[in-house]
Formats: sequence, C-alpha cells, structure tokens
Amino acid sequence: MAMEVGPCIPRRCPCGAATVVLTSKTKENPGRRFYRCGVVFGENHVFKWADDAVLEEIEALAVLDMAMEVGPCIPRRCPCGAATVVLTSKTKENPGRRFYRCGVVFGENHVFKWADDAVLEEIEALAVKQSVMENELIEIKEQLLDIKKILRRLFRWLRHFLPNFEINVSYV
Ligand SMILES: [Zn+2]
Ligand SMILES: [Zn+2]
Repeated sequence: MAMEVGPCIPRRCPCGAATVVLTSKTKENPGRRFYRCGVVFGENHVFKWADDAVLEEIEALAVLDMAMEVGPCIPRRCPCGAATVVLTSKTKENPGRRFYRCGVVFGENHVFKWADDAVLEEIEALAVKQSVMENELIEIKEQLLDIKKILRRLFRWLRHFLPNFEINVSYV
C-alpha cells in the first residue's frame, strides 16, 4: 500500500480517509468484495467493486506495457497505422480463443493474430535473444583470454628489456 502501485485501486477517499475492503452481503452481489471510504458510506465517498478495480488495473498495466514497446511479437499496430484490438473468437473452431486484430479493417493486409500464437512467439524471441547473448559472452571470454596472453607476452618482453620495469597487474 505504501508503494502506491495500482493507481486504479482506491487507497484513499477524496475526503482523506483510508479505504477499507469489505464483502458485500446483498442479494445482488453476495460475497463480492468492494473498496469503501473507511469513514463515510455515501455519495462523494469511495465505493468501488474490487473485481472492477483489478480489471482496470490490468488494463492500466497493458497500456503501460504498450508504451514501453515490450513484446515485439504482440501486434500493437496494424501496418495501416491503426491500433490493434484484442477480441474473443466465437467461431465453432476456436471458441473463446483471443486474437489481435486491426482496430479498423478486418481483412487482408491487416493484422490478424491469435493471442496464444503471439505469446508463444514472444517467448521464443526471448529465448533466441538469450542464447545470442550467451554466445556473445563466450566470445568475449575467449577474446579476453587472448588479450591476457598478449599482455603477458608484452610484460615478459618489457621486463626483459627494462629490468627495472615493474607493474602491478593482478589480472594477467
Ligand atoms: Zn470518504
Ligand atoms: Zn489495419
């Protein structure tokens, strides 16, 4: 709570009071959790269903994520320039399957991608990136070994010609 994460979860009421989380006991919403002003229950004081707050929170994070341009395999924009939307398939073949689509045109040359495919590609892209970095690290280590060999030879050579030459090189 002190970290102020989750801007959509009401921590404080406009009146200044901290909010409390309670559980509804009404017939319409039995067991549903909600945030409420800790002092006054009424108009102009916080009242928010907890599930709504969490959903808003997730959406806010998604917007943040979009701004940060992480996930290059998740289509944020259609080549036509329109932002993509996430929808849920209602076809017999793919009931309930989520997909990204051009927000403007549904058709050829516009984004259509299954969300699960996009996430898988994302994971694969990350794995490739990681292995590339590991290979680069191996190369760098090998180069370092070469440099150390060259330095050692150089120092030997220097000592040979300059007997008074002294240098503190703990790393070679
Ligand atoms: Zn209040
Ligand atoms: Zn488009």
